[in-house]
Amino acid sequence: MSDKLVNLMDLSPSELKDFAVSIGEKPFRAQQFLKWIYQYGVDDFDKMTNLRKDLREKLKTIATIEAPKIVSEQKSVDGTIKWAMDIGNGQLVETVFIPEESRNTLCISTQVGCPVKCSFCRTGASGFNRNLSVSEIIGQVYRAATVVGFSENNSQKPISNIVMMGMGEPLLNVTAVIKVVEILLSDYAFALSKRRVTISTSGISPILNKIAGQVDVALALSLHAPNDKLRDVLVPINQKYNIASVLDAVRNYISKSNANCGRVTIEYVLLDHVNDSTDDAQELAALLKDLPCKINLIPFNPHGESDYKRPSNSRIDRFYKVLFDKGFTVITRTTRGDDIAAACGQLAGQVKNKLNNEIIRIRQV
Ligand code: SAH
Ligand code: SF4
Repeated sequence: MSDKLVNLMDLSPSELKDFAVSIGEKPFRAQQFLKWIYQYGVDDFDKMTNLRKDLREKLKTIATIEAPKIVSEQKSVDGTIKWAMDIGNGQLVETVFIPEESRNTLCISTQVGCPVKCSFCRTGASGFNRNLSVSEIIGQVYRAATVVGFSENNSQKPISNIVMMGMGEPLLNVTAVIKVVEILLSDYAFALSKRRVTISTSGISPILNKIAGQVDVALALSLHAPNDKLRDVLVPINQKYNIASVLDAVRNYISKSNANCGRVTIEYVLLDHVNDSTDDAQELAALLKDLPCKINLIPFNPHGESDYKRPSNSRIDRFYKVLFDKGFTVITRTTRGDDIAAACGQLAGQVKNKLNNEIIRIRQV
């Protein structure tokens, strides 16, 4: 990134207004910047034809518009696309586009690696370097849109849904994530409905409580175990914020949210003979009986850094049936893009581990 220039992609809509005012312009300039950048994909001030020539010249001396660059693209047989994006210093983050009949979802990363280190997750195994900046997160959406298309109207958007389910734990980078959400929802930028933007979290209770009522998007909780004993092992942050505290925070969040229609999504990775027995399913049903939710079962996606296995289809079906018979809304997530290691938990990027400065490129499966 260029020194001393303000990167307009680092600014939330209200910060863009402040920026416009700070250079002697009217606040509505912020709307023009947002439209040019996020609806027309323009990152060159000279092409912003409704700005005065002298303003364009001035902007070139004080500001820039920079998103991480795509350095590789892999396409799956099922249409899923995975991009590696350069965030400098030899590090890469991954972004995945998942086209479906009724929606096109972009899965974005929020951190370089992840400090939570869930025992089954490839991102966790890649170490952790730092939080991504606003421009590095929203810049992933911008770059993806340069490939699949920008859109200003509300129907049939080339990118209709955003899920923060790539590399990293969004709530550990919450200041940037809040600004990213503001850009995604702004009518002058991506204009997405709050129901179509999802924060997926391993459950950082105090932060979830803090943003409840302030940030309103769809929430997914990565639960993965029906009791603390097992969750302490699978999702180590559970030792700090246990299931009871996390479920309390989730209840609080959805009680103050319109985006969730009163229901949270519970994600549950199915690991063969670890958390996938019918007893586990019964215990999960008991745990969630008073929580309005829909349950997404995610059969484990294997990768080279883990000895866990995906359960057989019959074990998956049995687990599903216990929950279904108890009246839960439950779906088994179809694996997308696993031939290019783009499925849930297979993203690794290229992370410099902060502890020893060693570059970790997780080997492909
Ligand atoms: N850190 C956040 C969001 C990124 S992970 C979170 O944990 O929620 C996105 C989802 O992929 C989580 O539900 C995570 O548990 C799941 N996941 C991680 N590794 C996986 C794997 N190997 N197979 C299947 N799902 C996995
Ligand atoms: Fe981090 Fe989520 Fe992976 Fe856990 S599952 S290590 S929280 S990215």
